[in-house]
Amino acid sequence: MMAFRLARPGHLVDINAVDELKLLQSDGIDLRIGALVRHDALESIEGAGVTGDLLAHVLPSIAHFPIRTRGTFCGSVSHADPASEWCLVCVALGGRMVLTSANGVREVAATEFFEGAMSTVLRPNELLKEVRLPLLRPATRFGFQEFSRRRGDFALSMVLTTFWLDHGLIREPCVAVGGAEDRPRRFVSAERILSGAKPSSDLFVRASQEVAQELQPMEGPGTTARYRRDLTQALTQRALEEASR
Ligand SMILES: Cc1cc2nc3c(=O)[nH]c(=O)nc-3n(C[C@H](O)[C@H](O)[C@H](O)COP(=O)(O)OP(=O)(O)OC[C@H]3O[C@@H](n4cnc5c(N)ncnc54)[C@H](O)[C@@H]3O)c2cc1C
Repeated sequence: MMAFRLARPGHLVDINAVDELKLLQSDGIDLRIGALVRHDALESIEGAGVTGDLLAHVLPSIAHFPIRTRGTFCGSVSHADPASEWCLVCVALGGRMVLTSANGVREVAATEFFEGAMSTVLRPNELLKEVRLPLLRPATRFGFQEFSRRRGDFALSMVLTTFWLDHGLIREPCVAVGGAEDRPRRFVSAERILSGAKPSSDLFVRASQEVAQELQPMEGPGTTARYRRDLTQALTQRALEEASR
């Protein structure tokens, strides 16, 4: 916001010297990402399995190299831009936010954390201390697709999908969309279409049509709701195909 001259805060709180917030580790159940973990630290994380692979795959879509070396995962999540890749990842994977203040610590599910564009349940005296992302089962496949007009720009829409195959049938599908509505969310009706079905182009077309139908796209200068709906449908289909390969 300061880079775009949209915010001129009277005070800044520098958390860079708080070593405890540099935490980045897997505890066998979750990947724990502390408030000072920069985007580029997520390029290669020991012991994070498929969750780590997914983060490394999404990472290059975030802004430009200098921003990835300075911006933080938790800063992006707190900022809650609808087009933030990490906000989408948190919602898709079922992440949990650990919020701390002088009054104590509370944990909030990612699905409850985002209230709208640039709006979260964070109280003025709270710090997002860490985000916990569940470690995905080793057989989990994923697909991530996004579109922005220029490389490094905020995406107009993005889709993240995960599932695993049991005897060739889709299990625990997740279809989540970011950047198109005011906050990221999962599309349960599309997930129902996929669950227990055999992967095929026809199936992916049906699931992506369902997403497009349910989507309530934002409109902006040069971006109509219809454009975002069509775009999201195409991205959903591509993300599902990517995951099935
Ligand atoms: C040109 C440009 C392009 C960008 N493109 C993308 C993109 O494509 N995708 C993307 O996801 N992001 C993008 N970003 C955002 C970037 O990734 C940063 O993550 C984001 O700006 C947050 O930066 P930061 O971590 O330094 O947090 P800050 O800028 O320091 O903080 C952002 C806000 O969150 C609050 N905050 C920060 N950390 C915490 C915390 N731990 N607890 C509570 N509140 C906190 C701050 O008070 C502030 O209000 C872009 C930014 C720029 C400038």
